[in-house]
Amino acid sequence: MSKEVKKKPQISERRRFFTTVAHNVGLSVMGGLLWAGYSAKAKSSPLTLRPPAALDEEDFLKTCIKCGLCSEACLNRDSNIDKETGKQRPATLKIAKAEDNVTIGTPFFTPRDIPCYMCEDIPCVPVCPTEALDVTKVTNKAGKLDPTMMDMGLAVVDINSCIAYWGIQCDACYRACPLMDTAIKLVYSRNSRTGKHAFLKPEVDMQTCTGCGMCEQACVTEKAAIHVLPREVALGKPGDHYVKGWDTKDQQRVKNRVGKDVTTHDKRSAKEATDYLNQGGLLDEDE
Ligand code: SF4
Ligand code: SF4
Ligand code: SF4
Repeated sequence: MSKEVKKKPQISERRRFFTTVAHNVGLSVMGGLLWAGYSAKAKSSPLTLRPPAALDEEDFLKTCIKCGLCSEACLNRDSNIDKETGKQRPATLKIAKAEDNVTIGTPFFTPRDIPCYMCEDIPCVPVCPTEALDVTKVTNKAGKLDPTMMDMGLAVVDINSCIAYWGIQCDACYRACPLMDTAIKLVYSRNSRTGKHAFLKPEVDMQTCTGCGMCEQACVTEKAAIHVLPREVALGKPGDHYVKGWDTKDQQRVKNRVGKDVTTHDKRSAKEATDYLNQGGLLDEDE
């Protein structure tokens, strides 16, 4: 008996073809939408530290074309060869991947792993083709590149975890700082708990700290007791309502706020503070 081969009607073939195409297009559109959604979500953590001379985060993200040239320059700089082994070390500047919690493809660094070494010639900055890294931010009046003008963040000491604040001798962060005695100082004070020892506490100068993170990398505690934060995160903001009566620039703000409610710390309040101190208002820190 001959087997009857049923020929499927042509309409079904066509329908299957279109269904497959539609299915694939659907998948790719959906994939695109998912990826777009993911990319949009893959925004940088507010704790992200950018390369030296980076524009403010919003402008930086609009300007950086994710070419990676800064990271490449950082990797290939002459000073990146380990003197002992003669081998190239990993770059400070990493290019963000999906798992980094930083906008994918943009440069950032993690000081606890690899800090910025504040290279004299700052090779990562002039190579930026879009001025997302703005060379004028690190160029001094003499027209020279000046690493002390870098401003990647601000080092903040966690005084509860810093063992120097416990009275244990440690100056690892202080010694690691390229701007020792300027950006970070050791401040002496009496240890009234023991009565015979002194505290030597690291204090960061917010004006001169560049946020290089050498201190963070050098910190001896299990999790660094000093760490670099973007300035917007690290610093507070008193608001226009409070004015420093002794500061001429701030006084200008008072003039600009004529008729508005302003609280100043003027001579009168300074006298009140002196009276307070004379009356024993300042106690030893452990008392
Ligand atoms: S200045 Fe810092 S980020 Fe730039 S190349 Fe040197 S180590 Fe890398
Ligand atoms: S060189 Fe400039 S544009 Fe290229 S990745 Fe670095 S910051 Fe972005
Ligand atoms: S981040 Fe640390 S090491 Fe770098 S300048 Fe500031 S205090 Fe010094």
